[in-house]
Amino acid sequence: MSVELKKELLETHIRAILELIGEDTKREGLLDTPKRVAKMYGEVFEGVGIDPETALTTTFEEDYEGMVVVKDISYYTFCEHHLIPFFGKAHIGYIPNGRVVGLSKFARLVELASKRPQVQERMTQQVADAVMNVLQPEGVIVSVEGQHLCMCARGVKKPGSSTVTTIKKGVFKENVALAEEFERALLRD
Ligand code: ZN
Repeated sequence: MSVELKKELLETHIRAILELIGEDTKREGLLDTPKRVAKMYGEVFEGVGIDPETALTTTFEEDYEGMVVVKDISYYTFCEHHLIPFFGKAHIGYIPNGRVVGLSKFARLVELASKRPQVQERMTQQVADAVMNVLQPEGVIVSVEGQHLCMCARGVKKPGSSTVTTIKKGVFKENVALAEEFERALLRD
């Protein structure tokens, strides 16, 4: 199916949803909404079907023996249960085993993992797995904070609550001191 046809079908269905909730899709404010939403979906869901690992291109050899922490990577994604956003920050720490990747690639990794209907737990896991598979480091730790609009705007209505998910792999699993070093790095300005 062509991109154009897909966009057209999306518009048709978004218009149908608006009609089904009782809206008048002819009124000015809603006239171009199906078109805008279809266009937005193309952008915010562009990662569907693409393995997040593909973000980690161009790795290079480096004899660095310490921990690398890339923190405060902002992300915006969509809760796959309600299709409304959750967003926050991701933090990645790893200990290379002779191979590193350009730091901006971590931001790209988080972005690619977020451009699909998601759950925070899986996104955290996907980011950790990607670093582990591509760089084969001594270990990796990924921590993600998220505010879920489905928690704030509907159902239990708990604004301000946030969810933290953490995955540890390799040396981070057994070595508590390393996980603490990561935590300290997150606290630094
Ligand atoms: Zn939800």
